[in-house]
Amino acid sequence: MSLFKLISFDEYVARHLKANKDVNERDFRKRLRETVAAKNSGCLCGCGNPIWAVGSAVAGHMCFSCITGESDPSGDFEIDETLERSRHEDKSGHER
Ligand SMILES: [Zn+2]
Repeated sequence: MSLFKLISFDEYVARHLKANKDVNERDFRKRLRETVAAKNSGCLCGCGNPIWAVGSAVAGHMCFSCITGESDPSGDFEIDETLERSRHEDKSGHER
């Protein structure tokens, strides 16, 4: 299910700040932290898919498809802490 390129929280923040000079680091960290937590607690997009933490930090709580209009997330980043593992944990009881 996860075709995203996984990246650590800090690494993504560094990349994002490099590409977006006008972004306030503390503010962005706070928002990304919040969307990562929201995703991990099972927050869904209006369409029923899990939200995309990276995009949601900028665009609001939505999934990749609703934010970008594309269905294929390969090549885009997602924070490695947000692996879509909650469903696996339910079944197997161990983290990937
Ligand atoms: Zn959606």
